Amino acid sequence: MTLLIDGKKISAAVVEQLAIDTKTFIAEFGVTPGLAVVLVGDDPASQVYVRNKVKQATAAGFHSTEHRLPADTGQEELNALVEQLNNDPSVHGILVQLPLPEQLNEPEIIRLIAAEKDVDGFHPLNVGALASGMAELIPCTPMGCMIMLEKTLGDLSGKHAVVVGRSNIVGKPMAALLLQANCTVTVVHSRSAEIEAICRQADILVAAVGRPEMIRGSWIKPGATVIDVGINAVEKDGKRRLVGDVAFGEASEVAGAISPVPGGVGPMTIACLMKNTLTAARQQVSA
Ligand code: NDP
Repeated sequence: MTLLIDGKKISAAVVEQLAIDTKTFIAEFGVTPGLAVVLVGDDPASQVYVRNKVKQATAAGFHSTEHRLPADTGQEELNALVEQLNNDPSVHGILVQLPLPEQLNEPEIIRLIAAEKDVDGFHPLNVGALASGMAELIPCTPMGCMIMLEKTLGDLSGKHAVVVGRSNIVGKPMAALLLQANCTVTVVHSRSAEIEAICRQADILVAAVGRPEMIRGSWIKPGATVIDVGINAVEKDGKRRLVGDVAFGEASEVAGAISPVPGGVGPMTIACLMKNTLTAARQQVSA
């Protein structure tokens, strides 16, 4: 029987523990962890993500603020807001929702966010810390995937993990975390040859491609654990639906365990953002 890796359930447990840790933190230091979320423009998907993040932060007992800027915001204006948040002692975590509108320079913003407040884990200092196994602030989606994998499999040592996708947000940090957990890691991307055959060797398959249902059941080794990061909106039977990068129906006939979309990695990502915010607050009060 294939095990469904229930991201809603696992993330609820993470958030529950976090609410307890937050209470203890507030009692100990007299400081409420603060998360500032910045949204530029009116992309509907980003609006939903930001709303969920702010809601979850409040539920975790954080002080949370939302900063909405119009789609035509200039670089200087956004830089000024980030600098203001960098200097605000009540803000411990800053998240600028990506992607940004075209006129804005994303790398410049990522570098401008104070590394100790970078709860997305995208600042070059945090990326370097992750690569050398010293990270405190780890990108939220891969962190969520690791929690799901460890919950499902326990020790990951010696397993062959294949990561499909090499983005800075998911694929690369995912590979770094799996390596740190003593997996043998293969990363494939759009220029890789024989992706299908490589996927078929995976004990752990993480799909972060952004292509609806690209990974078929026949690409999966029987009994493998499959984590589907993809979130793709498609039209099916005249209705808009969300599907992953894995063909769920076929894959769940072969895999030993699989995460669904929705209800898999998505809720884990938000829970891990909250974990990072508390970590950031803890580091800042004890600095
Ligand atoms: P990117 O578009 O930044 O990266 C996609 C990666 O997939 C690239 O490395 C690309 O290769 C690779 N790729 C594209 N096409 C193919 C192909 N045909 N064969 C093999 N590799 C391919 O996406 P993200 O990493 O940001 O996101 C991936 C998916 O995860 C998206 O669906 C996104 O919506 C979702 N997502 C979900 C989150 C969640 O919370 N659940 C959070 C973040 C993302 P190359 O580098 O060569 O171009």
